Amino acid sequence: MPIRFPFNLIQALTLAAALLLAALPLRAQDLKPAEKVVLQLKWKHQFQFAGYYAALKKGYYRDAGFVVDIRELQDGVDPVDSVLKGEADFGVGASELVLHRAQGKPVVVLAVILQHSPLVLITLGGGLKSLHDLDGKRVMLLPQETELYAYLEREKLPRKRIIEVKHSFDVEALIRGRVDALSGYSTDEPFALKQRGLPYTLFSPRASGIDFYGDTLFTSEALVKRDPRRVIAFREASLRGWQYAMDHPEEIADLILERYGRRHSREHLLFEAAEMRRLMQPHLIRIGHINPGRWRGIAAVYAENGMLPAQHSLDGFIFDETMPRDLSRLYRGIAAALLIAVLVLLFAWRQAVFNRRLRSEVARRREAEATLRDANQKLQAQLAEIQGLQARLQDQALRDSLTGLYNRRYFDEALERELALAQRQDYPVSLVLIDIDHFKQLNDAHGHQAGDAVLQEMARHLTENCRAGDLVCRWGGEEFVVVMPHTPLAGALQRAESWRAGFGAHPFRFGGITLNNTLSAGVAVWPEHGGTEDELLRAADAALYRAKSGGRNRVETAARVKEAAC
Ligand code: GH3
Ligand code: MG
Ligand code: MG
Repeated sequence: MPIRFPFNLIQALTLAAALLLAALPLRAQDLKPAEKVVLQLKWKHQFQFAGYYAALKKGYYRDAGFVVDIRELQDGVDPVDSVLKGEADFGVGASELVLHRAQGKPVVVLAVILQHSPLVLITLGGGLKSLHDLDGKRVMLLPQETELYAYLEREKLPRKRIIEVKHSFDVEALIRGRVDALSGYSTDEPFALKQRGLPYTLFSPRASGIDFYGDTLFTSEALVKRDPRRVIAFREASLRGWQYAMDHPEEIADLILERYGRRHSREHLLFEAAEMRRLMQPHLIRIGHINPGRWRGIAAVYAENGMLPAQHSLDGFIFDETMPRDLSRLYRGIAAALLIAVLVLLFAWRQAVFNRRLRSEVARRREAEATLRDANQKLQAQLAEIQGLQARLQDQALRDSLTGLYNRRYFDEALERELALAQRQDYPVSLVLIDIDHFKQLNDAHGHQAGDAVLQEMARHLTENCRAGDLVCRWGGEEFVVVMPHTPLAGALQRAESWRAGFGAHPFRFGGITLNNTLSAGVAVWPEHGGTEDELLRAADAALYRAKSGGRNRVETAARVKEAAC
């Protein structure tokens, strides 16, 4: 038998599909609770990282499903190492990231915040007209400041021609004349000079076509592969923050003062903001934009300085949203869908088996009920038959088997009932006692069977000439009795006379002989001839006796009660 799926299979499948749709990770934050994420900065808290503070403050990170810990740089911490070791998820670096990548450190840049590096050489006053004026001068530089070294090379001022002094990270050295120039951020150091009203000159490598990127958001290749959605979500939230910060620098400056320390004054922070705007040019370039050509240019400069091979590949270095995604989530989704489908099918199968059993059980019970019903009907029929039989038996017990008329027993009960009713309703009841004349002779002459035939003929004759309500009985032997309610004497006499005449006038044939008999009758009426059944019968019997003794074939009336008493 084919298995029919239960009606609720559609519902179950719909439910499963809904669950599946609900479970599909449309966005990382739809599924997961807020994730803890660490952002490692490349320096101390200042406006340089304004966008990240804004993203946190404005809830962009929260909306993306992150709880972000923004860590300023501590001694001994290298943002690249932190990110690659997994101590931080994201970091802020700069152009040197391409070098790290070349050194086998799998960093991936996500967004360039400063489209131009803020790194400059700073000199005091207007004394130095060109970079060449630094020839033989003392300059504070850091070893990793490749773009400055490249700048000097391009300007034909070999590194050996300047006197490199250990960097003190303090413009005081410049002010006090301990050095003639120092490297610094155009966004930061000049503020101190400006505040003191000291004129200064900035030499940017851009002047010789060396255009490095500044602050750049990055992460590890491992995270990109493991959870690209998380990377995209973090980058987008950060860039929203940057847009907000550049649109509301004063608000974010106040936020930094309030939440991230007062190392820089408000004016200093806003100076930084203004300089950053110049380097970011948010009105021209979409914040975060990465131009691979620029990275190739940067790599070429490093190559010029022998720090990278000439044809260095940038494959995998720049985050590509279309790069092959980690498919494990998809596989997990498919596995979950399959599991749900299998569960649904199992459930449907179980339901189908259950329903099949239920149906067969219902059919079995219906069959049993039908059998019971049939048995019950048969029983009812048998009962009716028995009742009919019983009724027939009862009736037979009250009837005479030869003539079919009621017998004496029935007559006794019926007469009692009739007289009681007549008494209550006050109407006359006539009783006629009939005896066939010379019946013995007939038996003797023609046989008992002929006698029986005459008895049956008499029964038929009386029954056919009776009215509804009359009662005809065989009294015994060749004697009959008829009870007629509501019939006074005159009517009774008339009827008895007609039976007598009719019976005597109709001979009939039996076994080749013609039988012709007569009858004698005695008529008595209640109450005038007897008040009780006995009295009435005795009165009728007496009348019959008189009919016999008077010559037979005649009808006699009973004597009135008073007469009888006399
Ligand atoms: P009477 O004119 O005085 O009535 O005389 P009778 O011969 O009719 O009366 P009697 O009482 O002398 O005879 C009655 C007979 O009826 C006697 C009996 O053999 C016969 N008899 C009684 N019952 C039956 C019966 O069922 N079948 C037949 N064939 N005869 C019966
Ligand atoms: Mg008799
Ligand atoms: Mg007789």
